[in-house]
Amino acid sequence: MTDPIDTGALVLFSGGQDSATCLAWALARFARVETVGFAYGQRHEVELSCRAPLRHGMAALHNWHHRLGPDHTIDMGPALAGIGATALTSEAEITMTDEGLPSTFVPGRNLLFLTYAAAIAFRRGLKHIVGGMCETDYSGYPDCRDDTIKAMQLALNLGMNRRFVLDTPLMWIDKAGTWALAHALGGQPLVDLIVEHSHSCYLGTRTTRHPWGYGCGTCPACALREAGWTRWCS
Ligand code: ZN
Repeated sequence: MTDPIDTGALVLFSGGQDSATCLAWALARFARVETVGFAYGQRHEVELSCRAPLRHGMAALHNWHHRLGPDHTIDMGPALAGIGATALTSEAEITMTDEGLPSTFVPGRNLLFLTYAAAIAFRRGLKHIVGGMCETDYSGYPDCRDDTIKAMQLALNLGMNRRFVLDTPLMWIDKAGTWALAHALGGQPLVDLIVEHSHSCYLGTRTTRHPWGYGCGTCPACALREAGWTRWCS
């Protein structure tokens, strides 16, 4: 019998295209998969409401319902609000900062998320922590870098006396590659599910349905998603 600690994974699951693909990636590999979502007063909070339909839809694919375990949610809104407003959590316009980062950047956000996720994984006996961080389309977020994730893995393992493995299946692929990965994992039904129910738009708009899903069509997240879809389809 396989040790469940070796086969369990916790997926950082926001309800976006990337994390939905990561959830499918984990369900294809691990016997036990749980999810965690973080509320932090993001203006596209609609993203969080996409999580349940995506989980439900994925459970119906490949008999993955045998593998999909509980969902955890953590409200980090008050903590991050105390750090200061950014465009992701306030009504300010999304612009580029002097450092070349979009004003949506919450400093070190993924470091906080990974630390909370590791604490949950510790409690739940899950060895793998899966996140959609990516250097290819990463908009310059330093906490999405491969070196950052490797350093976090080391810090978490030392600090919690565990052997967690931080998996980032999207690290070296672009958004077209992410659609291709979804197709490889779950075929057209998974692609259709992600198009219909995942959310990327920074503005939280779900009134307009494009071939690649719902969104305003013009914000940086929509532009990235559309460009990847177009490259994948061509
Ligand atoms: Zn948008």
